[in-house]
Amino acid sequence: MDCKKIQQVIYRFIYGESNTVELRRIKAHLENCSSCQEERLIIEEILVQLKTDATAAQEDCPECVKDRMLDGIKRKIG
Ligand SMILES: [Zn+2]
Repeated sequence: MDCKKIQQVIYRFIYGESNTVELRRIKAHLENCSSCQEERLIIEEILVQLKTDATAAQEDCPECVKDRMLDGIKRKIG
């Protein structure tokens, strides 16, 4: 997998929704690629921030929160 592919599926990885094969490929790639490691950290930071925002807004719909997180990530990294 190249970096572009990884960055397309890294959301699933962070959400824990990757299947076993994908998980292994992403992990292997991250071990050897510092730019994707950075990408992952950035996304995780955004998620933490968005989660905090959602909690502050007393969001009670998990799917809405998730949609908003993905929107936020996409806006942030284009
Ligand atoms: Zn990479």
